[in-house]
Amino acid sequence: MSFGLASARPSPHATCPCGGGAFGHCCGPILEGVPAPSAERLMRSRYTAFVVGDAAHLLRSWHPRTRPDEIVVDDGTTWRGLVIDGAEEDGDAGVVSFRAAWRQHGIDGELHERSRFVRRGGRWVYVDGDVD
Ligand SMILES: [Zn+2]
Repeated sequence: MSFGLASARPSPHATCPCGGGAFGHCCGPILEGVPAPSAERLMRSRYTAFVVGDAAHLLRSWHPRTRPDEIVVDDGTTWRGLVIDGAEEDGDAGVVSFRAAWRQHGIDGELHERSRFVRRGGRWVYVDGDVD
C-alpha cells in the first residue's frame, strides 16, 4: 500500500474511511493512540491511516522487525473502499484478509491481502502480508 493525497482528518461524525461506522467511534481513537481491540480493528485503522495520510500511525503500528525506515508517499493513489473477507485470532496472533479498492492515474484496481498481526505488550501490530 502507499499513500493517497494527504487530507484532513474526517469529522467524528463522518463515516469512517474503512466503512466501520462513525470515525469518532471507529478508527479515530486508534489513530490517536488508543490500542486497537482486535487485529481487524488495527487493520481497519491502518487502511484509514493510508486514506488520511497518517504516517505516524502506520509506523507505530508496524512490527519493529518488518517496519520500513520510512513510508514512501505516492500521491497518485486514491483508496476507495475496504472489505474485510475474514479475521482470525489465536492468542496473540491474528490474520486478516481484505480487499482494498484503489484508483491510480484513472485506472481502478483492487488489492487483495492476507495480513499477519501479533499482539506485543497489549498492542496489535502489523507484521507482514501475502498479496494475491
Ligand atoms: Zn474505521
